[in-house]
Amino acid sequence: MSQQTTRDVLVLPGDGIGPEVMPWALAVLKRAAADAGTVINTDDALVGGIAIDQAGKALPEETLRKAKASDAVLFGAVGGVAWDGLPMAERPERGLLGLRSGLDLFANLRPALLFAPLAAASSLKSELVSGLDILIIRELTGGIYFGEPRGVVTEDNERKGFNTYVYRESEIERIARVAFDMAGKRGGRLCSVDKANVLEVTQLWRDVVNEVAVDYPDVDLSHMYVDNAGMQLVRAPKQFDVVVTGNMFGDILSDVAAMLTGSLGMLPSASLAANGQGLYEPVHGSAPDIAGQDKANPLATILSAAMLLRYSLELPAAADAIEQAVDRVLAKGLRTADIADAESRTVGTIEMGEAVLAELEQGAQ
Ligand code: NAD
Repeated sequence: MSQQTTRDVLVLPGDGIGPEVMPWALAVLKRAAADAGTVINTDDALVGGIAIDQAGKALPEETLRKAKASDAVLFGAVGGVAWDGLPMAERPERGLLGLRSGLDLFANLRPALLFAPLAAASSLKSELVSGLDILIIRELTGGIYFGEPRGVVTEDNERKGFNTYVYRESEIERIARVAFDMAGKRGGRLCSVDKANVLEVTQLWRDVVNEVAVDYPDVDLSHMYVDNAGMQLVRAPKQFDVVVTGNMFGDILSDVAAMLTGSLGMLPSASLAANGQGLYEPVHGSAPDIAGQDKANPLATILSAAMLLRYSLELPAAADAIEQAVDRVLAKGLRTADIADAESRTVGTIEMGEAVLAELEQGAQ
């Protein structure tokens, strides 16, 4: 008899299209894990606007407690017009920020993977992007977004705004190690992005990355200034394998890379803690304009489930099986409205979810 392992996943559907796409991601996750001999136990909890309505705040204590006790968290989306009038500190999005800091998720992974059948959906020429498979790793808990002092003061009769761009050596080292590890398991190339010609803090970034590189002789390390990296991403994106950078540069570059692949509805992401625990979520938001209409593309959340299997549960074959099932469904011409073209058949959330599940089941036979 084969041995069965059990892992715990906390499911946070959230608001808007979150609860519509989540059942499909979950069905696919459980099926792919089962085929790899792992049983996924799931629990769910409130986050975002629905948590504000039912429990008084965007991140109830119980949700954070359950998240800490899980092996991984699968997150839908939060937010919506009903909560737009609340003060910033009480908004649904605080639920996500609270999870990131509560779980100490310091490494954000955003793959930009172009499924061949969608090459025409990119804003770049097909030959520049077909076969694109890059991974942007962004430091998520430090840098200028969190540095102190910060604020706006009045000085000499005018307002002055300021932020502090700060990284400690230990923060750079831990994100660099994640990036070298990932590059070692992929194409063996790592590009570190900084602005070392102008910002001292990023000269330190470059120095520390070079020091860490000594432990990874098999990874080919290069450095690039952020302005050039922006240009190269739209000029010749396939030159990259893994890119690592700080919080602010990563915020911008990951959105640039995302658009190379066409649609928000296709983009998964992961945020990892030092202990391997992670939060997995689509890049898109709660899409209130299409919520409740069976129009949402479930693939970004389904692909986030694949990342969960790869990075937190260490089941890479199960992750591959999901990605291949998505590829086959797209090759058959099925598209949700956001990625539809003249030749494809437009389907809703439910039909797309069912199709991926069916492909996964067939692939396992
Ligand atoms: P959004 O990502 O929700 O939507 C932007 C556009 O993309 C919309 O036209 C939407 O219909 C479309 N879209 C998004 N996901 C799609 C999918 N899976 N399938 C098909 N089309 C899709 O961004 P927004 O409109 O700026 O924000 C809406 C709400 O979501 C706001 O309350 C915002 O604060 C919140 N938000 C949450 C997150 C998150 O939970 N991580 C991220 C971004 C925005």
